[in-house]
Amino acid sequence: MSNPGTGTGPGDLSAFIAGLPKAELHVHHVGSASPRIVAELAARHPNPAVPTDPDALAEYFTFRDFAHFIEVYLSVVDLVRDAEDVRLLTYEVARDMARQNIRYAELTVTPYSSTQRGIPEAAFMEAIEDARRAAEAELGVVLRWCFDIPGEAGLEAAEETTRLACELRPEGLVSFGLGGPEVGVPRPQFKPYFDRAIAEGLHSVPHAGETTGPQTIWDALTSLRAERIGHGTSAPRDPKLLEHLAEHRIPLEVCPTSNLATRAVASLDDHPVTEMVKAGVLVTINSDDPPMFGTDLCTEYEIAARLLGLDAAGVAALAKNAVTASFAPDAVKASLLAEIDAHLASWSA
Ligand SMILES: [Zn+2]
Repeated sequence: MSNPGTGTGPGDLSAFIAGLPKAELHVHHVGSASPRIVAELAARHPNPAVPTDPDALAEYFTFRDFAHFIEVYLSVVDLVRDAEDVRLLTYEVARDMARQNIRYAELTVTPYSSTQRGIPEAAFMEAIEDARRAAEAELGVVLRWCFDIPGEAGLEAAEETTRLACELRPEGLVSFGLGGPEVGVPRPQFKPYFDRAIAEGLHSVPHAGETTGPQTIWDALTSLRAERIGHGTSAPRDPKLLEHLAEHRIPLEVCPTSNLATRAVASLDDHPVTEMVKAGVLVTINSDDPPMFGTDLCTEYEIAARLLGLDAAGVAALAKNAVTASFAPDAVKASLLAEIDAHLASWSA
């Protein structure tokens, strides 16, 4: 992707990354709630399982394994109880993005979790759309939605998510996803739901190969007609799959720290991102559930730069991958690509 180090030290590269205009394609709505927001929600809606003080929250967000992560995640989901919670959460997430120079994000939203908890569906849609418009106007962050099926909730959740996406389709909705555990949740059973969403013009972006092998990624491609893959961590175990992803320009949404936190990889140095890039796969860098994993997008770019041996030009190329692989409006794509080039040019000057 680039030649290693041409005079920029790691400190310099951090500053370059901080100022770099960025797009993020794999980041979850509730999973982006910072400890401060979670503490606010927990204070509004007391839940003995969730601590309210930020230090205790940091401890609470230390995961034993993927199942434990899902358990903690759902306890935070349970704190989002009314439309005002939804609006506040969404806008505050955009504020954290603006601070990192994230200019465009496809936020994965799980409407089923909220409507099941009694938030009226129309009020939910209005809350996210209101936050989206405010974030763009006031913070300069363009948001789009990916509605995802919570895999652990089964086919009833799939049916409901599809209905919400297709019948209530908010203006910012661009894609349809599938998250939650992969073990015991085979992808092909969701085919009819993805078929309906795709027929409505939504893009298919399921999680696959995060905690299971390459077959899950093949299933996502063949049954769910995936246009991008969430994670795809196990792809390098199958050279034919890597070749297929590279040839068909199917991007992977790579989230290094998330993979470490959920024990999908044993260590960052073992992360297969290097093999993905070497095989010519279009790799994008993302933060997944950043405060829960004690990270943010800038940190993920720093990690990627270290693992891939990138200099500023290489990092800029990685940032452009995310723009290219996005479902952003053409004008947003063009202006972001130009801004990335300008940032690199002023850096190199
Ligand atoms: Zn995810």
